[in-house]
This record gives sequence, structure tokens and C-alpha cells, in this order.
Amino acid sequence: MSDACCYWFTGLSGAGKSTIAGELFPLLRERGQQPFILDGDIIRQGLCRDLGFSEADRAENQRRVAEVAAILLQAGVSPIVAFISPLAAARAEARRIVGAERFFEIYINTPLEVAEARDPKGLYKKVRAGLIQEFTGISSPFEAPEKPDCVVPTVGRTPRECARQIVDELLQTEKE
Ligand code: ADP
Repeated sequence: MSDACCYWFTGLSGAGKSTIAGELFPLLRERGQQPFILDGDIIRQGLCRDLGFSEADRAENQRRVAEVAAILLQAGVSPIVAFISPLAAARAEARRIVGAERFFEIYINTPLEVAEARDPKGLYKKVRAGLIQEFTGISSPFEAPEKPDCVVPTVGRTPRECARQIVDELLQTEKE
């Protein structure tokens, strides 16, 4: 049984965080971990429904999720956090809360043009129509990680390939 770890995804809306999280889930189970996906969209409907998208609210959103991730780790569960997490300082804070030795920052690296063309939730269309303000990558900053534990490009690859890369790079020594 592998030790529980936190897989913290960061990337633009439409980058592929939720999709790759879903692919990573069974791969971690095969390796003896007990994963659990914390998806930004779902957390925002419940635990963080009082929060908006200002810088302060985004930081608080992330802080709460990091605390939840830390609790899951205590229970032996491996959280896969699929949050845009646009700000480097808030990601550093998450690493501190979770514990650096069990925290993997994973950059789901998809260029804005590609994420916008995918537009899986129709959000970019609404942004361009002026219906959504403070949207990451367009009217709100995205600070790409400088030293992530893993960089996952998605263009020209399947979500499955992306999930496999994460396992291959981060769990090399735990494959048995
Ligand atoms: P996010 O959670 O980052 O907002 P989603 O996972 O909801 O993004 O949407 C990503 C979209 O991109 C999906 O429609 C997915 O099918 C598509 N896609 C195409 N190639 C990939 C890939 N290699 N990895 C992840 N998603 C991909």
C-alpha cells in the first residue's frame, strides 16, 4: 500500500484538470492508494458557496480546500485537487498546510487558445460576451507555477496519457 499523497492540479479553466483527475483516480487505486477528487466546481457549490472570485476569496477558497486535503491525508486518503489555483502564493500556502513532503503540484499545461477553443462549460463564450467578470487567464491573472513537481502538456495527447505521465513521474518507486 502506497502512502497517501495530495495531487494538487493547477491550470486554466478547460485545461483538463477534472478530466485528468478522473483518469488518475483508477490508476492510483491500482497502486494501492485510496483517492478522492476535490473538484473546484463542486466545492464552490457547497463548502465555498459564500465565496466569489476576488483575489481574497480565491485565496480563502484554496485555503479551505487545502485544510480538507490535509484532513483526508490524515484518514489515509489521497486527495486529487482539481482547482484552477491561479495564484502562486496561495499554492505555496496549500503546500504548507498539506505538508510539503506529501504535496505534488501538478501543472495541467494547456494554452489559453486551446482551453478557449475546447470551452467544455461554455464559460469562455460567456466571458467574451461580457457576462462573466474576473475570469482567470482573461480578466484575472493566472500565475503559471515556476517549479511544479510535474508539468503535464495536454495538446495532442489523451487524458489517459496525461494521467499515466503523472503516475510514471511521481510514483516511480511505488509501482509494486
Ligand atoms: P478543467 O477541469 O481544467 O476546467 P475540464 O476537464 O472540465 O477542464 O475540460 C477539459 C476538456 O478538454 C474536456 O472536454 C476534455 O475532453 C478535453 N481534452 C482534450 N484533450 C485533453 C487532455 N489531454 N487532457 C484533458 N482534457 C482534454
